[in-house]
Amino acid sequence: MALIVQKYGGSSVADAGKIKNVARRIAQTRDKGNQVVVVVSAMGDTTDDLIKMAHQVTGRPADRELDVLLSTGELVSSTLLAMALRDKGYEAISLSGAQAGIKTDTTYSSARIRDIDPARVVKELKAGRVVIVAGFQGITEEMDVTTLGRGGSDTTAVALAARLGAEICQLYTDVEGVYTADPRLVPEAQKLTEIGYEEMLELASYGVKVIHPRAVELGELFNIPILIASSYNDSPGTLIHGGALMEVRNKVRGVTYDLDVAKVTVIGVPDRPGIAATLFEPLAKGGISVDTIVQNASIENITDLTFTVAKSQLTKAMEVVGPIARSIGARECVSDAKLGKVSIVGTGMQNTPGYAARMFRTLSEQGINIQLITTSEIRITCIIDEARVKDAVRALHKMFELEGK
Ligand code: ASP
Ligand code: MG
Repeated sequence: MALIVQKYGGSSVADAGKIKNVARRIAQTRDKGNQVVVVVSAMGDTTDDLIKMAHQVTGRPADRELDVLLSTGELVSSTLLAMALRDKGYEAISLSGAQAGIKTDTTYSSARIRDIDPARVVKELKAGRVVIVAGFQGITEEMDVTTLGRGGSDTTAVALAARLGAEICQLYTDVEGVYTADPRLVPEAQKLTEIGYEEMLELASYGVKVIHPRAVELGELFNIPILIASSYNDSPGTLIHGGALMEVRNKVRGVTYDLDVAKVTVIGVPDRPGIAATLFEPLAKGGISVDTIVQNASIENITDLTFTVAKSQLTKAMEVVGPIARSIGARECVSDAKLGKVSIVGTGMQNTPGYAARMFRTLSEQGINIQLITTSEIRITCIIDEARVKDAVRALHKMFELEGK
């Protein structure tokens, strides 16, 4: 008998009919003799709706109250799913994050799981029940409810799988798996049957929305195989794991993009120790998460500093950086909100020269200007005009022969 953790995303439990469909799928897993722990997201757009409601009563919802409010979305879906399973004659019980023993730090709206006390879940499993855990939430030492950040139910599921020693964590969603590129942009994109944790982490961090990056990190840390598959059919999905990859023919595994990029450039910055800290400390304090940072080589002790942020944070970033730039004697501070990034990812690129050059050549053949470049050992990212991102993705997908045969 295997222990399996399954997670169902918000669109898969969006209404009563879909909840019944999920109950049927869980029942099938149970019928095969498995113990099953299920994690659910809130129904459909519930989380967005709750955030809107909070903003209708106040411009600035209190962090603690907002987290309790958002956690209710997952309570609704988990209780309904437990009822649907019981209606089919299966023993099932819903548990809130707190009841499931999920302990977090106190960072509201992006809390990290510190530990899981699995006693209650284990007890219910032993009693022969399917345990349905409300995703995306936990509890602090002071017994305050926290949430893990948008998309955090994936992280709940992988964390539970790790703590319970589950055989696999299966994430069921409205797509069939991970593709070589977004199939809405590139109809020739291929579903990957398997992918390594590192590659998946880069893809998820640079635009592929099918899994919360923190869930991939946890999976790697505890070596939990994670399956991403559809909740609507039995198509095999994509397995994320740490073993040797059998079916990798291509060194570039995927092309990904993100349209949520804005750039700030501080021009004419005096080049002396402490300047970068002076600029970036207040940004961090303001809760602005800075992505790519580039500093030019200085000429006569004057340099330019560029960084990117999410578009929604640009105004705030300019408000923070503007006065500091003036106070340190920088010449000016400019921004561009119409950017996007496109990345190629693959562990096979490591130690193999020529991938960057081929990527840049491909973009230049499309007449696309590269504004910033960043790399990791297994990723190359170019920041370009947002209007050209789709063309870039299509051209790169073709150039790196990801269409399959
Ligand atoms: N319901 C939360 C959200 O929409 C968490 C999740 O779906 O994983 O972000
Ligand atoms: Mg959701």
